[in-house]
Amino acid sequence: MTKVLLTGGSGFIAAHVLELLLQRGHEVVTTVRSEEKASKIRSAHPKAKLSFVIVPDIAQPNAFDEVMKTPGLEAVIHTASPFHFNWTDPKTELLDPAILGTTSVLKAIKQYAPSVKRVVITSSFASILSDAGLQDPKKVFSEADWNPSTYEDGLKESKPTSYRVSKTLAERAGWDFVKDEQPNFDLATICPPLVFGPVVHHLNSLQAINTSNARFVDVMQGKMRDEIAPSGVHFWVDVRDVALAHVQAMEKPEAGGKRFFVLAGKFSNRELVAAVRKNFPELKDKLPAEEAKGGDYPEAGFPGYDNSQATNVLGIKWIPLEKSVTDTVKSLQAVGA
Ligand code: NDP
Repeated sequence: MTKVLLTGGSGFIAAHVLELLLQRGHEVVTTVRSEEKASKIRSAHPKAKLSFVIVPDIAQPNAFDEVMKTPGLEAVIHTASPFHFNWTDPKTELLDPAILGTTSVLKAIKQYAPSVKRVVITSSFASILSDAGLQDPKKVFSEADWNPSTYEDGLKESKPTSYRVSKTLAERAGWDFVKDEQPNFDLATICPPLVFGPVVHHLNSLQAINTSNARFVDVMQGKMRDEIAPSGVHFWVDVRDVALAHVQAMEKPEAGGKRFFVLAGKFSNRELVAAVRKNFPELKDKLPAEEAKGGDYPEAGFPGYDNSQATNVLGIKWIPLEKSVTDTVKSLQAVGA
């Protein structure tokens, strides 16, 4: 049993991490932004060894000082970071919470929680990819790659670029901190591409769907009936495998000091729609016809990937696309989609 601090416990991925930590008998302290969010999570886990600390904004200086004074913390899993495009100022609403949020977690651990031995940070494929690599079908992405974009790119380019920069520089800040400060803990980072999978966190409405599952709501509501939307990055992973990666990275000594590119494989929106069509005949009227355009892989092909480090060190078997799609749609039907 490990006493773990999980940041951002109300999030899509964090809710699965929380479930798995509790299932494995760990004691969890989680940060959320409001008492309302805490009480919803508490009611989903009434008997769990689970407590809450309210951290309204991770970008505030010293945001994590109080929670790190919790006695006996042994590990920290830092998931909280903005992943949405509803912002106007990239610095204060995206880059600061991602980058300063990460450094303030690490500084507070060093100062107040010397009993912490392992920190796991949710990074992203965003910190691995490059625009040139994404255009090159011969490229094979792995943990050896780093996104070359700069802070300035994050301020002036597109919203997706700003998000990618936020994740890249947050992860780099983590590795730099460990190198420069030589703290009592070591670090593992989890780098997933698009994360699909069942929703187990509380949703006030379908409009509040997490960013990476938004395409499922669009498909189920008929928004792709005439044309299937472009897929974006053609790499995906199921959220339950992402949660497993975090927990294994926390538990396994050999995960320390490693980045993990966690992905199940390639997908296209066309394949995703086909899996919905096959398993949910009742949604037929909302779905694009089989001959509808769009949602394919690029004609030139899409790059390859190497997920062997996550497969071998973390022991993940990778949930297949059809199961992930089916479970995601069922979970969204259960909340009213
Ligand atoms: P969610 O939006 O569901 O979760 C984000 C979490 O971060 C929420 O708990 C949110 O709190 C919290 N948060 C965001 N900004 C702040 C802030 N300024 N102060 C305090 N808390 C904040 O998204 P996901 O679960 O998908 O994302 C979790 C992590 O995984 C992120 O680090 C994201 O970058 C990363 N990731 C996600 C991928 C995906 O496809 N889903 C792919 C790769 C990486 P609240 O809900 O209260 O706003």
